[in-house]
Amino acid sequence: MIITKQKELKEILRHLEGQSKVFLIGCGECSTTCKTGGESEIKAVKEALEKAGKAVTGYCIPSAPCVSAQVKLALAKNRKTIDASDAILILACGLGIQSIKDNLRRDKSIHIACDTLFMGAVDAGGAFLERCSACGDCVLELTGMICPVTRCPKSLLNGPCGGQNKGKCEVDKNMDCAWILIYNELKKQGKLGLLRQIKTPKDHSKLSKPRQLEL
Ligand code: SF4
Ligand code: SF4
Repeated sequence: MIITKQKELKEILRHLEGQSKVFLIGCGECSTTCKTGGESEIKAVKEALEKAGKAVTGYCIPSAPCVSAQVKLALAKNRKTIDASDAILILACGLGIQSIKDNLRRDKSIHIACDTLFMGAVDAGGAFLERCSACGDCVLELTGMICPVTRCPKSLLNGPCGGQNKGKCEVDKNMDCAWILIYNELKKQGKLGLLRQIKTPKDHSKLSKPRQLEL
């Protein structure tokens, strides 16, 4: 899922300056899980904007604003209210924001309420963990299903570096060295021989942006 964090209210208000009627759009997927763009966050932002003298004309929470078909439906249902608003404030990730912009088909002022941080997994305690950087050339098969591109701050494909100390990373001493984790995992799986395979530099042409995939 895409991990987001809400911007501070003072920044949001700065962008909304001079626009009094605001329509809010949230996200029923990732931003709901991140507690940045679900029903309760929309209501909290609505209350805060109203306290600051804005009129919130309405809101909608498309199940996944990054999917055109879903955002089109939500926009169509709220067309009149949106048309009567000065601005739209979006509580979603950068994908959702751009998808809403592309599907709006109106010359309307759009503003953002969230920062997009990373693609993350959610652990049992509810923490968001960056585990994949979408490099387009996955090496997990060779690394015990632990991603060195993302979990090693140097993205080393052949590790560990000389800085690891008692299994901890030299960049952050509270963090396990990804390559020691990989070693331990491969040992457990009886696959230590994989470490002898020197991994060649990544083909960065696969990371050339913007990427696109058509089915
Ligand atoms: S190697 Fe890491 S960053 Fe690349 S696709 Fe696999 S998990 Fe993602
Ligand atoms: S100590 Fe380990 S995780 Fe940290 S930079 Fe070196 S190889 Fe990567």
